[in-house]
Amino acid sequence: MSYTVYDFAIIGAGAAGLHLALAMQEDSFFSNKKILILEKEEKNCNDRTWCFWETGKGKWENILRHSWKQGSMFNSREEIPLEMGNYSYKMVRGLDFYKYAIKEIQKSANFHWIKDEVFEVTKGSRVKITGTQGTYEALQVFDSRIQQDFFDTEDKYSRVLQHFKGWFIETETDIFDPEKFTMMDFRKTWENTTSFTYVLPFTKRKALVEFTFFTPELVESEVYESMLREYIEEILKPGKYQITEKEGGVIPMSDYPFHKENDWQVIKIGTAGSWVKPSSGYSFKNAERYSQQLISNIKSNKIPAAGIPNKKFRFYDSLFLEILQNKNYLGKELFSVMYKKNPVWRIFRFLDEETTLKEDIKMMSDFNPRPFIKAMVKVIRR
Ligand SMILES: Cc1cc2nc3c(=O)[nH]c(=O)nc-3n(C[C@H](O)[C@H](O)[C@H](O)COP(=O)(O)OP(=O)(O)OC[C@H]3O[C@@H](n4cnc5c(N)ncnc54)[C@H](O)[C@@H]3O)c2cc1C
Repeated sequence: MSYTVYDFAIIGAGAAGLHLALAMQEDSFFSNKKILILEKEEKNCNDRTWCFWETGKGKWENILRHSWKQGSMFNSREEIPLEMGNYSYKMVRGLDFYKYAIKEIQKSANFHWIKDEVFEVTKGSRVKITGTQGTYEALQVFDSRIQQDFFDTEDKYSRVLQHFKGWFIETETDIFDPEKFTMMDFRKTWENTTSFTYVLPFTKRKALVEFTFFTPELVESEVYESMLREYIEEILKPGKYQITEKEGGVIPMSDYPFHKENDWQVIKIGTAGSWVKPSSGYSFKNAERYSQQLISNIKSNKIPAAGIPNKKFRFYDSLFLEILQNKNYLGKELFSVMYKKNPVWRIFRFLDEETTLKEDIKMMSDFNPRPFIKAMVKVIRR
């Protein structure tokens, strides 16, 4: 019986694994390489809704569910319109992305998909991957399993959680503007925390309404539900409405160095590879960007994860997380100042890590310096 040694193996076909697999498939450098994908689930559920921003037409136009050219942010006093510039805020359903990616990958005979749960990866002359169904070997492995020590260790890093529950609602009268989304609405918050509502309207009567926390601890399930109900009834005032679907999630917002053990053979990807932007929890576009960066590094014979993540922006993220972790009630004020003093296109560029030092200093000078100076002292000391 022949035994295959794969050139590359991808563990986990979620956002990161599928972005990477698609990017490899599109690049002729990989067309004669044997690529194994190991995924424990069927990937046939719509388990999340991904939003991201970009200018012009992007790679996902054919699976977009909706996009918005206008938006707002609300602090407790006023509505702040978002100056989008050339950006659109776009939405893809998880299931549409999984279906599209799986169909594309199936077109290439050099990709081999096996449903298996991996429990061990061992480095040697080749990497040995042990799953519940079998053992596999590859020269390089991209692994999206989150390291257990992230959950176990009490260390110097900040661990804030973005946790939320969302309801897809349908109203009996026209109350939404499907052209305009709400990024953050701080008119209803939970007990001195950084918490807000996010509204994505799809039609005049259908929207996803999500109550979100950026806090170190989770809350009881009923809290999200009661905040959602309050927001819908007191702010949206839709009259009668139906909940047609629900979603929820917990995204780690942390400066923990997930990427610390990356080397030539085993490279962590996705949340497990520090691909989630620590200060925002967004990762869909990072997965697209970082997959390209891995490919470019591999092709130029550099260490695959070189440059991931960017050190300057990681430092800014650490400052912001330090404040959210220790003075969580300040989040509302920080976001309010950020959106009031900056067009959102600049904030998008900053979150995409495209701004220059001069632009960064300009943005930071808008904030009350005290909490940032304190955070800086703490972050530099560690
Ligand atoms: C409801 C929800 C809404 C979100 N909205 C947004 C958003 O709007 N924009 C945005 O940018 N981000 C959003 N996120 C965050 C984003 O989805 C995650 O950051 C992203 O999915 C992380 O990518 P990943 O590949 O690391 O993990 P995942 O996408 O979770 O993929 C990991 C994959 O690995 C598989 N796996 C795990 N362990 C094993 C194992 N041992 N063996 C084999 N396979 C394994 C899993 O089954 C899974 O398929 C949202 C998250 C949720 C839950």
